[in-house]
Amino acid sequence: MIGDERSYEAHLRSRRAEILERVDAAARRAGRDASEVEVIAVSKTVGVEEVVDAIHAGWTHFGENRPQELGRKLEALGRVPEGASVTFDMIGNLQKNKINQVIGRVRLIHSVSSAHLAEAISKRSEARGISSDALLEVNVSGEPSKSGFSPDEVLACAEGIVGLPGLRVCGLMTMAPARDADAARRTFSGLRELADELRRRTGLALETLSCGMSEDFEIAVEEGSTLVRLGRCVFDQGFVL
Ligand SMILES: *Cc1c(COP(=O)(O)O)cnc(C)c1O
Repeated sequence: MIGDERSYEAHLRSRRAEILERVDAAARRAGRDASEVEVIAVSKTVGVEEVVDAIHAGWTHFGENRPQELGRKLEALGRVPEGASVTFDMIGNLQKNKINQVIGRVRLIHSVSSAHLAEAISKRSEARGISSDALLEVNVSGEPSKSGFSPDEVLACAEGIVGLPGLRVCGLMTMAPARDADAARRTFSGLRELADELRRRTGLALETLSCGMSEDFEIAVEEGSTLVRLGRCVFDQGFVL
């Protein structure tokens, strides 16, 4: 399916160059510097071999949405040591009973979608003597299919969450409605404005805005994203960028 390995790696390499160029152009259109925007490769649909190819092609930060698959990849790659350049983020729904499979193994948890989950992550992190870096996931667009805090909820809960000892809130994350560029733009600018408001209320830096996927990352960068999460456009040879 993937073709011979060398050509797949070449595909990954040329795609990466094109993606970084587009991020750079989108940042410049918004008067930003592309160094403010990090790109993670979402490896949830590919195997360990493709991740190894991607590392060879220059990717260093990866995202997974399932604790079990995250564990499988980390084991196969040989527990990525702290300080190593290859890191994984948890970007998907996290159930409380899976928290221990994730904390201490990922650089950042993007998907803290409720105050209960924030408390549970904090408690389990504290028990291990660590603090987990995390983003609060906000359902800015209000689509019923999407998880996360509503904007009102996140404003109401923020002070309690930022006081949790085992959790460091680094920013916000959202997902935009699919195949609707205007709605995507409103969602990303809404996330940015919400972060501004939360900064005023909490005094936190909230540096990270995680938004933008394969179909909307250029809009996200124009609207202030600092972390785009790209799956299909990185790995899928059939994806039209
Ligand atoms: C799968 C996934 C992505 C990547 O989506 P693509 O459209 O393949 O780029 C980004 N974020 C989350 C939370 C995902 O689950």
